[in-house]
Amino acid sequence: MNDQEQASSLAQALLLPREQNTSLVCKFTRVKDGMSEEEQKALDRAVEMVRKDNGMGKGKVYSASWLTKVLKQHGYSVSISTIQRHVNGECCCEQSD
Ligand SMILES: [Zn+2]
Repeated sequence: MNDQEQASSLAQALLLPREQNTSLVCKFTRVKDGMSEEEQKALDRAVEMVRKDNGMGKGKVYSASWLTKVLKQHGYSVSISTIQRHVNGECCCEQSD
């Protein structure tokens, strides 16, 4: 049933003009949408870790730059500013409701 859901949302997405299709969420979420369910969950967790990490400078273990690097190593190219905005809740994803 999950497959069917994905197929219908893909069909819907393909019918939408580019602007409408992409303006609802930031690039971070669009990249995430292309990942497997397991990877999406891991990425959500990673974003939470970045949000909760109060360390400063080198004391910060989970940071936007860390996340940028990990994604890049796995073939996902998202800029650090995009990730930073998403982590800080300043991107369009957070303003949808
Ligand atoms: Zn976002």
